[in-house]
Amino acid sequence: MRRSPSPSVEAAKRKAYIAVLPVGGAVALLMWQLARREGGAAVVDLIGLPLLALLAAGLTVGFLVKRSGFRSLEYPLVIGPAIYFFLNLLTKRGAEADGIATLAGIGYWLPALFTLSFMVFGVRFGAAFSLVLFALTVLAGTGALLKTSEASTGDLITLLQTYSGNGLLILLLITLAIIIRLQAQYVVEMETVANTDALTELSNRRHLEHLIEEERARASRYDRSFSVILFDLDHFKRINDLHGHQVGDEVLKGVRTLLVEHIRQVDTLGRWGGEEFLLVVPEMPLDPSRLLAERLRMVIERHVFERAERLTASFGVAEYQPGDTVETLTKRADEALYRAKAQGRNLVVVEARM
Ligand code: GH3
Ligand code: MG
Ligand code: MG
Repeated sequence: MRRSPSPSVEAAKRKAYIAVLPVGGAVALLMWQLARREGGAAVVDLIGLPLLALLAAGLTVGFLVKRSGFRSLEYPLVIGPAIYFFLNLLTKRGAEADGIATLAGIGYWLPALFTLSFMVFGVRFGAAFSLVLFALTVLAGTGALLKTSEASTGDLITLLQTYSGNGLLILLLITLAIIIRLQAQYVVEMETVANTDALTELSNRRHLEHLIEEERARASRYDRSFSVILFDLDHFKRINDLHGHQVGDEVLKGVRTLLVEHIRQVDTLGRWGGEEFLLVVPEMPLDPSRLLAERLRMVIERHVFERAERLTASFGVAEYQPGDTVETLTKRADEALYRAKAQGRNLVVVEARM
C-alpha cells in the first residue's frame, strides 16, 4: 500500500524544489549561451537546454502555486533532466576528440539526478532508476574507451573517478533511505508503546487525554458534539481477593475483548487506570451516549467471565460543552460515576447539567 506523504515531508520537499529549480534553470540557460557561442554545438544542447530552463521555470511556478498534492509536478522534475541526460549519452558517445572528457562532464549531474529520483520515487524505484542511469553511463564510457585507441591515463582516471563516485553514491543513498525508513518505523513503535496499556493493549490514559483534546479542538472549531463514558468495575477488589491477581488481570483483558465488539470503529476504548475504563464517543451527544453506556452495562452484567463470577460496572457520562477542557469534561464524567457508585452500582448516571 502506498501511503500519501506526510504534510511536513511535502513541505520540506517543496522548499527544496523551489530553492533548486531556479538555479538549475539559470545554469541550463548559461550552458545554452555557452554552447551557442561555440561553433558546432550539439543539437541536443541547442534544443534541450532551453527546454530544460523552461521546464525549471514552469515547475518553479507550479510548486509556488501548489502547496500539497504535487506528485504530478515531481515526475517531470526527474524525467525531464533524465531524458536530456540520456540523449546526451546517445549523441555524444565519445564521438568528439575529447569524448571521454565530455562523458565525464555528463557525470557531474548524475548525483543530483540520483538524489532527486530517491526523493520523488522512494527507495525501491529511486534505486532502480539510478542504477539504470548509472549502467547506461558506464556502458557509454566503456564503449568510448574501446573505440579510442589511445586513451590516456588521465582519461582512465577521470572515468574511474566518475563511475566509482557515482556508484558509491547510489549505495549510500540506498543505505540512507533505509536508515530513514527504519528510524521512522522505530518512532512509530515507540509512540505505540507510549500510548498503549501493557495489560489490556488498549489506549492508556496519556493517549486518551490526547484523543479527548483532539476531539475537543475539533468540536470547538466546527461546533460539533462528543461525549466521554467513564466506567469502573464494581467490587473488583473482591475478584482479586477471591481468585487472585492473575484472574483479576484476565478479567480486565476480558472486558476489553467483550466491549470492543459493541462500540463503533470511531470510538476509542481505553484504560483510564486500575479497573477504570474510558470510552471517547465522537459526534455523539449526551442522550445517545447514555443509551450506549446502558448497552455496555448490560453486556458486562450478562457476561460470564472465565474463572470469575459475574461482574458489573458503574458508568458516568458527560458531553462536551463549549469552554470545556479535558480536565473539566472528565471531571464531570467522574462525578457522575461517583454518583452511580453511591446510588448502588451497576448503574449509568449522566452528568449534572446547570
Ligand atoms: P468499587 O465498586 O467501589 O469500585 O469497588 P472496587 O473494589 O472495584 O474498588 P477499589 O478502588 O476498592 O479497588 C480497586 C481494585 O482494583 C484494587 C486493585 O487491586 C484492583 N486493580 C487495579 N488495577 C489492577 C490490575 O491491573 N490488575 C488487577 N488484578 N487488579 C487491579
Ligand atoms: Mg471498582
Ligand atoms: Mg476504581
